[in-house]
Amino acid sequence: MRGAPGSSGLRDPYFPKAGNGGYDVTHYGLTLDYDRDGGGRLEGTAVVTARATQDLSAFQLDLEGLDVRLVAVDGREARWDRAGQELVVCPPSALREGAEFRTTVRYSGRPRVITDPDGSREGWLPTADGALALGEPVGSMAWFPGNHHPSDKAAYDVSVTVPEGLRAVSNGVLADESTEGGRTTFAWHTAEPMASYLATVAVGEFETRAYETRATAAEDGLPVYVAVDPSQAGASGEVLGRIPEVVAWAEGIFGPYPFSSVGAIVERPGDAGYALETQNRPVFPGAPDVVLLVHELAHQWYGDSVTPRTWRDMWLNEGFATYAEWLWQEEHGGATAQEIFDGLHAGKVFPGGIGGPSIWAFPPAEPPGAEHISDSPVYQRGAMVLHRVRETVGDDGAFRALLRGWAAEHRHGNAATVDFTAYVERSVPEKDFGAVWEDWLYGDGKPERR
Ligand SMILES: [Zn+2]
Repeated sequence: MRGAPGSSGLRDPYFPKAGNGGYDVTHYGLTLDYDRDGGGRLEGTAVVTARATQDLSAFQLDLEGLDVRLVAVDGREARWDRAGQELVVCPPSALREGAEFRTTVRYSGRPRVITDPDGSREGWLPTADGALALGEPVGSMAWFPGNHHPSDKAAYDVSVTVPEGLRAVSNGVLADESTEGGRTTFAWHTAEPMASYLATVAVGEFETRAYETRATAAEDGLPVYVAVDPSQAGASGEVLGRIPEVVAWAEGIFGPYPFSSVGAIVERPGDAGYALETQNRPVFPGAPDVVLLVHELAHQWYGDSVTPRTWRDMWLNEGFATYAEWLWQEEHGGATAQEIFDGLHAGKVFPGGIGGPSIWAFPPAEPPGAEHISDSPVYQRGAMVLHRVRETVGDDGAFRALLRGWAAEHRHGNAATVDFTAYVERSVPEKDFGAVWEDWLYGDGKPERR
């Protein structure tokens, strides 16, 4: 057979088996049937449309757990095997470089909870009234087969059937909802490219609200869809009502909102250990405060639209979203970014235990291992890098243009740290950023203020 097998990973520095070589996914069509009474069993069909980037005799999809029943490529049954998290597929005939092909996988079972190297839980999390899928960094392989690395983004259609009375919420817009024979199907459509770690499904007894942000002369209204666990409705109503305000504020700094819908999913506090910037519709375990809402919505620009090339580039997500918090506070009667920066540098510990010596444990652009990609240097010291860039630029208008330009240049794409440093140097050639990169981005230990 012509062609060679695609590789079983993309050599991510921290998750070498995440993703697969030899193809590029353009669309996922997921049809899921959730059986709460069956202990949370899932019946799934994934149709993965991809383009071969080499002649392929075989290729792999990432899938952890679940029972595979059938695999077909372009409608013809294919041989397959499983090895760890790899579903190895041998198409009936080789795929030529450049060819588009569709892989259908039928699978079922109770999806797993995946424990990350840092001990946090992701994948498919059972909740009191259903389930919640969270995928950063590798949890999405617990509920659908795919190319689970942030560098391969695709459009999605996710259709979830649940017992009548429950709701299933995912990314994008709700294209259809229909009930038949005591089962309700929710069809969600995500047109803009999405990394698989940002895909979500939340099944539960949600209270939902759909409306549009106010249209302006320049822009149509943006569809807003929020789903809230009834126990959290009282505590989260006011802050969720501020979504249009936060989006408008963020657009004023970061540029046009990059997607065609927005919203939030609020679960119970114990349902997940953290909030996550799932695309269009971040997930919060319990009612968020406005600063956390700002953080997760800022990720729609930085992380979801401009997505890290590898997990080493995580500070491009978290440094930016943390700095968005600082800018929000600065403009809403709180501490200025300068005061927060100075406080962190002086060793101050802010509410929530943020700050102190742990932020100097490693440079934000080089976490020492997979278990450290969500540690405080990636967040707080990442934001401090941006503050040092702001100080070096020396002009707030020019700094904001830099933030906006970065979101525009890599809109719906991927970027690495070297892309960012090159972009800043190219955009503001009259300033020298060498010491910022050397001391703050890549340097060990606590940098001196120069
Ligand atoms: Zn974040």
